[in-house]
Amino acid sequence: MKGGYKDSRQEEEYFEDGRQILTRFHDKHAKTFQLPYFVEYGFNFEVDGVPVTGKVDRVDKLPDGRLLILDYKTGKQLKTGRIDVDAQLTMYQLACEKGLGAEVAELVFYHLPTLKEHKSGRREAALVDGLKSTIVTTAESITKEKFDPKPMDSVCRWCDYKPICPIFKDQFAGMPAEPAKAAGEPELAALVDAYGEALAKLDAAKAGAEAASKALAAALKAKGYVRAFGGRYEAALTAGVRWEFLDKKKVLEILKTAGLYEKVLAPSAPLVNKLLEDKALDADLRARLTELGERVPADELKLKEL
Ligand code: SF4
Repeated sequence: MKGGYKDSRQEEEYFEDGRQILTRFHDKHAKTFQLPYFVEYGFNFEVDGVPVTGKVDRVDKLPDGRLLILDYKTGKQLKTGRIDVDAQLTMYQLACEKGLGAEVAELVFYHLPTLKEHKSGRREAALVDGLKSTIVTTAESITKEKFDPKPMDSVCRWCDYKPICPIFKDQFAGMPAEPAKAAGEPELAALVDAYGEALAKLDAAKAGAEAASKALAAALKAKGYVRAFGGRYEAALTAGVRWEFLDKKKVLEILKTAGLYEKVLAPSAPLVNKLLEDKALDADLRARLTELGERVPADELKLKEL
């Protein structure tokens, strides 16, 4: 699926999560908003000859001329204590002081899902020196092809270093380290594009089928039929409803407090729906969950060829 989403439902969920975060962020900060000193501040410098590059989400200038560095975090959880040792922020302090010529006073992780700031004062010289020596020793190890690989499917899939990675190099023995470029391998390029275009058509067809299904279900209901014949297909509708939850974090909190998180594994709507169907569910818990949810149509449309 385009954009790295599992399916259109996940894309909609992420979009909705993002919309909610932005709305809440705006509500909280609009009145006191001040223009940042820098947004996406790009840096490029050397540590003992090792090139270092990156971007800082946001830099603010404090009234006393010193700097506040802010890094936005979108992950579900942010470990407490991380702010005091995180190497990324130490790097940002080093980069901003070198590039902007002002002292850093504060380092902040802004956790967007909870709109909470985790703050720390400027890093001590010992931490900055420790980071510099890590950069230098890491670069040396890379140059000598000495490193301890930590394979992860999602990361390794797109990794360019497989031909020299101790985990994969046997599988890639004799193969060129560089990927095939479209200009040099037109036949391969055509196959890659044909596959991509076929998947894109599949996505478009799925979206078209979803829209047609909604239109047909609505028309059947409006006309009062549960079954209808076309020229080549027959359709049957089973009307239903399901719970939908906008505030998934609240649902998660309730389930965790009730010791039921394990049962549903995650606050996904189908699993919470199943839980709500369970007649043995505690009445108070049912009431708290249903207060957060909304009943939405969940008709099932079956289709078969004649
Ligand atoms: S393939 Fe790449 S990402 Fe995976 S372990 Fe090797 S070097 Fe690391």
